[in-house]
Amino acid sequence: MEMEPVRSARGRWARAWDPVAADSVAAWAKAAAWARARVKDRAVAWVRVVAWVRVVVWAKAAAWAAVRAVAWDSAPRSPPTARPTDENTVGPHMKLAIASGKGGTGKTTVATNLASTIAGRGRTVAYVDCDTEAPNGHLFLHPRIEDTVAVERRVPQIDPDLCQHCGACAELCRFNAVLCLPARTVIYDELCHSCGGCTLVCPEGAIREVSRPMGQVSRGTAGPVRFVSGTLDVGVANSPPVVRAAKRAAPEAEWTILDAPPGTSCPMIETVRDCDYLVLVTEPTPFGLHDLRLAIAVARSLGRPCGVVVNRARPEAGEARTLCAEEGVPLLAEIPEDIAIARAYARGRLAVECVDGLPALFENLYRTLETACGAPAACGPKGRQ
Ligand code: SF4
Ligand code: SF4
Repeated sequence: MEMEPVRSARGRWARAWDPVAADSVAAWAKAAAWARARVKDRAVAWVRVVAWVRVVVWAKAAAWAAVRAVAWDSAPRSPPTARPTDENTVGPHMKLAIASGKGGTGKTTVATNLASTIAGRGRTVAYVDCDTEAPNGHLFLHPRIEDTVAVERRVPQIDPDLCQHCGACAELCRFNAVLCLPARTVIYDELCHSCGGCTLVCPEGAIREVSRPMGQVSRGTAGPVRFVSGTLDVGVANSPPVVRAAKRAAPEAEWTILDAPPGTSCPMIETVRDCDYLVLVTEPTPFGLHDLRLAIAVARSLGRPCGVVVNRARPEAGEARTLCAEEGVPLLAEIPEDIAIARAYARGRLAVECVDGLPALFENLYRTLETACGAPAACGPKGRQ
């Protein structure tokens, strides 16, 4: 066998050791060189393909951007919106609810004085009186009412000629508003929540819905404050529809202040359930503090951030402060017990207009709320702060 010339030290060593193995090494080296060349060719080809794809994508992006730029230049411009005069803006629409677990704590005092204070800072403010069973915000804001609309609800009415007294409607109604007797079926409007369920289940088509008046919503202006008030008709027990109507009637404003009904039942929940921040007004009495705990529990169950304002506060009565610390809820302000505030209330006047120290107190409250509304998570549900 004719020997190939030996070119490397490894080859010379292999040939010295075994000529056959040296041939094998040479063949493997040749194959490896061929494979390297193939890989290199492939890599060069792929680099070229990727480069071309990038060029095409960039060209398309540039063309799209040019078209957008032309469209932007030729689009009509809306006039710039007026900016608030104050630089500490927290947002264009802030919805505050002023509530309490108990009646008579001073919700309306806080809500009306706060509305007046914020409006005095050049902000647009809408005050909405959602205490539809006893609205009294108008006694302090003295609005000029511009329009009043009726609030109606749909209640079922039974056609006695069609009704077969099968009892399906009474069985369905969760509010016990239907009484089905062997010879007569009766609907009690006062208990009906207008869910429409009985109309759907009646197999005879004997039920149709009719409108019944249940209240009014009035709108107007009280100086710079936009005013809305809902009023439930006497004898009507179901106020949430009127609360909803009042909230819907609220005009656009930077700050909307919802003056909630007392307690922690449906009307209060309907008022506060979509607010951005819940201000809970309390008084330092056993009843006030007990119901404050209930109101805090409602705020937590609704996932609303909340803070507390203590009305008629006395320096020696620190129970409210202790309760706030225990519950992990911020104490926003303490309105002192002052005969001058009671006099202003009795005369239907805003305390910020005629009681020394109150303008500064409500200004501070407004600033605190501005900060709190900007960082609502700081007073969120207990255990998740
Ligand atoms: S479901 Fe219709 S038919 Fe049956 S009791 Fe009610 S109204 Fe009468
Ligand atoms: S509409 Fe609803 S609440 Fe009213 S009677 Fe019918 S089922 Fe009951």
